[in-house]
Amino acid sequence: MTHGHQLRLYNSLGRRVQDFVPSAEPAGMYSCGPTVYAFPHLGNMRAYVFADTVRRALRWKAIRVRHVVNITDVGHAVADTDTGEDKLEVAAARERRSVREIAEFYTRAFFDDIRALNILPADEYPRASAYVPQMIDFAATLEQKGYTYRLPSGLYFDTAQDPRYGELAQLDPEGQREAARLEQVPGRRRKTDFALWRAEQPGQRRVMRWDSPWGWGAPGWHLECSVMSIALLGPHFDIHTGGVDHRELHHVNEIAQSEAYLGDGLPWVRFWLHNEFLQLGAAKMAKSAGGAPRLADLTEAGYHPMAFRLFLLGGHYRSQLDFTTEAMDAAQATLRRLVARVQPLRPLPEADTLGAATAAAATAAAATGAARALDLMDAAIAADLSTPKILAVLQDALRDPAIAPDGLRVLAAAADALLGLSLGSLDPADLEHRRSVTELAPEELHAIEHLVAERTQARKERDWTRADQIRAELDQRGVQLTDTPEGPVWRLR
Ligand code: AMP
Ligand code: ZN
Repeated sequence: MTHGHQLRLYNSLGRRVQDFVPSAEPAGMYSCGPTVYAFPHLGNMRAYVFADTVRRALRWKAIRVRHVVNITDVGHAVADTDTGEDKLEVAAARERRSVREIAEFYTRAFFDDIRALNILPADEYPRASAYVPQMIDFAATLEQKGYTYRLPSGLYFDTAQDPRYGELAQLDPEGQREAARLEQVPGRRRKTDFALWRAEQPGQRRVMRWDSPWGWGAPGWHLECSVMSIALLGPHFDIHTGGVDHRELHHVNEIAQSEAYLGDGLPWVRFWLHNEFLQLGAAKMAKSAGGAPRLADLTEAGYHPMAFRLFLLGGHYRSQLDFTTEAMDAAQATLRRLVARVQPLRPLPEADTLGAATAAAATAAAATGAARALDLMDAAIAADLSTPKILAVLQDALRDPAIAPDGLRVLAAAADALLGLSLGSLDPADLEHRRSVTELAPEELHAIEHLVAERTQARKERDWTRADQIRAELDQRGVQLTDTPEGPVWRLR
């Protein structure tokens, strides 16, 4: 049996598409996870749906993987600075909760969203706060090796000692990312030097604080990813993912400190994969800007999480994507059509890997058409994860009279394995566009509430004719009414 098309991925390190062959199995994969100080927004979710696409492509190619996603609950300072306040401590003060409560609350929100988006769970979700002693050891090793210098504000990594510094970001040798680092740090030798340890300043007392050889304080933001990935995946591993913003600063620094720490002359991680941004209007959707829409806003507005997933996968991960209501409407309509077409084909066979899909196609009647479409899907995922192409192949196949139902079954299952849209199980009723109460004009909302109250009164007075009349009127306005022991509840159809 053929193994299909060689998986090729775009490596930010060198900026080119390369054959991906794991150096060992399971292949190690690390994805920079959420900073849990606010609700994850839709842009963040693009990063995790992207990592999930990588996971699904590896599974399809029968490559076993061990996936780690970190939870940043300490160390990430406001505006990605070295000396600013910790994002979690700012959030705790704002919400009058403890940092632990903030972290737990927003970590749960993150898990809710990735579950709703049908994202395969990682093997480990390490929390930065649980690895601070290891981070101190790591920084102490760097200090022993002479890669650091001390300042009153903490311990700094000396980037001048790394001749390859900034290779990932393709910085020029004197590379100064002014935009990213407006901050002035007294005594810092180069603008690119970054904090490994952020020492408390006289009069300052952090909420999250640890004792260290450099005084009381907290770790630098970049440290956690190097320390936790090496602890859980070994010194070298195959894949590191994140949003494209990380390619410029965070990942550059992760590489510098890890290669200095390991000191074996080998590249630390072989493949660096980055997703482009999801844009909201012209502005990038940053959590810190506040007000960025999140998944709950979409479901509240009547969209299914899988429609958002389809919207994301309808663009290639390396292209910027604009979030618009029109695009979401189109995605939900496409999903509805796909589910309507796939529903009569259920149950779908097992086809999580190319091998399983090929075997199922071989036993399917009239497999020829299916085999060709299956090969196109395999070629699409292998060519740097072309999810838009997989969708197009599926849509064409579902319209192709030459492919028998058994063949379509295999193709729908294969697309599901790669795209994770749950075509095999979604209930079409869940995809009807339901208007949200928030879309109602204030007068309309008022009128509906008034009618509901009037009907309750009519029922109390046993005026059934009037109560039925009102129900009919509410029905005309698209209101779905249910009587419960606590009284009537309603929502829009
Ligand atoms: P954060 O929680 O801010 O540390 O970010 C979590 C992940 O989301 C990182 O991989 C970011 O690069 C990524 N990310 C942040 N904003 C966006 C966006 N608008 N579009 C795509 N990815 C994003
Ligand atoms: Zn990271």
